[in-house]
Amino acid sequence: MYTPSAIQEPLIAEIILATRAKININRADIGAVSGEMIIDIPEDKYNQVVRMFRDKGLKVSLLHRPIVRDDNRCVMCGICTSICPIGAFKIEKDWSVTFEPEKCIQCGVCVSACPTSALELSEGEI
Ligand code: SF4
Ligand code: SF4
Repeated sequence: MYTPSAIQEPLIAEIILATRAKININRADIGAVSGEMIIDIPEDKYNQVVRMFRDKGLKVSLLHRPIVRDDNRCVMCGICTSICPIGAFKIEKDWSVTFEPEKCIQCGVCVSACPTSALELSEGEI
């Protein structure tokens, strides 16, 4: 999570140049004074990259598992099937909506799109 002081700095560029980590940005929501990004960090560069973010005053959380779906809340509307960038949701022949969590890249797009709040992005402190 970005802080107001960090928002003007080219942090990602600096960290990539310093660590040579191939960071993949899954989602970025950066405003004028704060922001949030979901990124993939290669395992061998993980500690180094996280330390650099923290040294620059950013809050870092680990998304340690894919989206979780509450089947009791899901009404099988299918909205998530059209919004997920990697096709983790699928409408079956019987019109049920199935979910393949192993495909999820944790971009978080489906969480806000789901009309019944059936989807949750689980995060934890590291
Ligand atoms: S958007 Fe939500 S309610 Fe609709 S199918 Fe997906 S998980 Fe279920
Ligand atoms: S978080 Fe992103 S990748 Fe994962 S299921 Fe939702 S839309 Fe798909």
